[in-house]
Amino acid sequence: MEEKWTQTAKELEGVLQEMSRTIHQNPELGFEEHKAQALCTDLLEKEGFSVEKGTGGIETAFKARFPLGNGQGPRVAFLAEYDCLPGLGHACGHNLIAGAAVGAGILLRRLAGDVNGEVVVMGTPAEEGGGGKVIMLENGAFDDVGYAIMMHPSTENLVGRGGRATVKFDIAFHGKGCHSAGPEKGINALNAVILLFNAIDNLRPLLPTDTNINGVILDGGKACNVIPDYAHAQFSVRVRTQAEGEVVMEHLRRVIRGVEQLTGARAEYVLEPGYAERYPNDHIEREIQKTLEELGEEVERAPLMGRYGSSDIGNVTLKMPAVHTYFKIAPKGVASHTPEFEKASDTPYAYEQMMKAALAMARAGSRILSDGEFRSQVDEEFAQQVKAREEAKKQA
Ligand SMILES: [Zn+2]
Ligand SMILES: [Zn+2]
Repeated sequence: MEEKWTQTAKELEGVLQEMSRTIHQNPELGFEEHKAQALCTDLLEKEGFSVEKGTGGIETAFKARFPLGNGQGPRVAFLAEYDCLPGLGHACGHNLIAGAAVGAGILLRRLAGDVNGEVVVMGTPAEEGGGGKVIMLENGAFDDVGYAIMMHPSTENLVGRGGRATVKFDIAFHGKGCHSAGPEKGINALNAVILLFNAIDNLRPLLPTDTNINGVILDGGKACNVIPDYAHAQFSVRVRTQAEGEVVMEHLRRVIRGVEQLTGARAEYVLEPGYAERYPNDHIEREIQKTLEELGEEVERAPLMGRYGSSDIGNVTLKMPAVHTYFKIAPKGVASHTPEFEKASDTPYAYEQMMKAALAMARAGSRILSDGEFRSQVDEEFAQQVKAREEAKKQA
């Protein structure tokens, strides 16, 4: 690797680590990330980026741009997340995602050389719940971006991993309350919820392989001598693809109608696609892998589909070539969304790895901007993914 990259990363290290640590120490929930937004955008403004806040209709989102050459050409966006988890702080390490993305933006802005295009850094709020990227996509925030790159902390350096699609499912049943001594005068909303749980269990053999449904009852009544007039449950549904999600939704709608008929309770529900499955762009991931290996890291390759989690980056991968590569910050066995991972997201080692991620992303961005042949390979891979999905849809 040319020395200018490592040298510039060294210069930026202090300020980026400071920023990332401050985000870690001031955890903010999704849609409330005002401090994190200010920290990222202050740094980017100082570096000459023009910053827009409130991008895509979300107050805590941002888009920072820096034109290169005549500004006409590919636009490469680095995506920052900076929301925390309720009660756990930065147990998913999004403070490191923010540091890596801002770092990549600054590195590329300084070192892109003689190219035409634009470096973009986008702040995408509420990944852990709320789907900031989905809202931003719907509101056109990604329309003028060509490529999206982000990296997520993990217990290994990992390329090639996809993610599953989700379905949003929130349901309330409205019945009729009465004294439990005369239950025939009421309509038991809790019974409807219990019936729904059992019906979903009976449905499992009919659902696409690897469908994963988990539910909780959030309100099941207030007192045991009152027939509940209201009950509320929430389910998380994971499926391999959004197309499979639609199959599951059809089954669920039928089951809900059945429960209404059996109990007389009225259902009020939200049943819609949440996060899409993920299609990482392998050409970009290989570039990231190359830099990580040059920096002495071992990089693993994961199968595309597995019993993975879900993220709103999936929706971005449907729209443009995009990656969500993983970088190692902790030994295997330290699970994310735990207090241990929260600690691991604020160590000298984690910040060192964050700088490697920033370098890897910036260099991948540089290749996209400077190498037209590489760019057409990236675009072609994306076009093939789109085509494969369309054909699968026709066959379904
Ligand atoms: Zn998470
Ligand atoms: Zn995360």
